[in-house]
Parts: sequence; C-alpha cells; structure tokens
Amino acid sequence: MSDCIFCKIANGELNTEFVYENDYVVVFKDLNPTAPYHLLCVPKTHVESLAELEDEKLMAELLKGVKAAAKKVGLTDYRTVINTGKEAGQSVFHIHFHIIGGRPLNWPAG
Ligand code: AMP
Repeated sequence: MSDCIFCKIANGELNTEFVYENDYVVVFKDLNPTAPYHLLCVPKTHVESLAELEDEKLMAELLKGVKAAAKKVGLTDYRTVINTGKEAGQSVFHIHFHIIGGRPLNWPAG
C-alpha cells in the first residue's frame, strides 16, 4: 500500500536496517523501544491487522520470523504482542508482532 509506512520499510524504501529478513517478513528495531530489545516482525505483503489475516502460510511465517529474529539477536526470554485495532493500541495498520525483551517484564502490564 503506497501510503503505508511499514510497506515502505519492508520494500527497503527507507533504508531501514533489518535485524532479520526472509522471503516473507522483515524484522527491524522499533523507533520508540520499551525495552533493551524491541523489534517488529512485519510481513512484506500488506495486511491491515490480525483481524484481516487469512493466509495460513503467512501466519506461520510471521511466527517463524519472530523465532528466527529472537534467536539471531540472542533473546531467549521475550514477549510477543500483536495490537489489533485502535482501542487495543494499534497505531500502524500493517500487521506486526512486537518482540520485547532484554529486561524483566511484569505480567499483566509493564
Ligand atoms: P502498534 O501501536 O502496535 O501499531 O505499534 C506500532 C509501533 O511501530 C510503535 O511501537 C512505533 O514506535 C513503531 N513505529 C512507528 N513508525 C516506525 C518506524 N518508522 N520505524 C520503526 N518503528 C516504528
């Protein structure tokens, strides 16, 4: 989608450094990290949110991307989050996993 920031990043238009990349996803650092590690795993194809994600292959590839990126940076303990919809905190409407770690994380919240 031409006006989608994550499409531009995934297409390499913004010269973003990728922590991990394969045919389906890119993983890069969040602009406003909430922990020492805060990565975003983003599909190369535009899907607005989890509610719109129908492609089972892509579902699997997103999880595989999360695992591969975490392993690559040496994260063994981490939290994954998908915000779905504005009320849940989604601000970029191109589905993405947050991968957060590198410090103790409280649950719930924190
Ligand atoms: P969400 O609120 O779940 O949609 O998450 C969107 C995330 O994208 C936020 O944590 C932002 O800090 C992050 N973000 C927005 N624009 C960029 C960007 N250009 N590069 C990296 N991260 C970004």
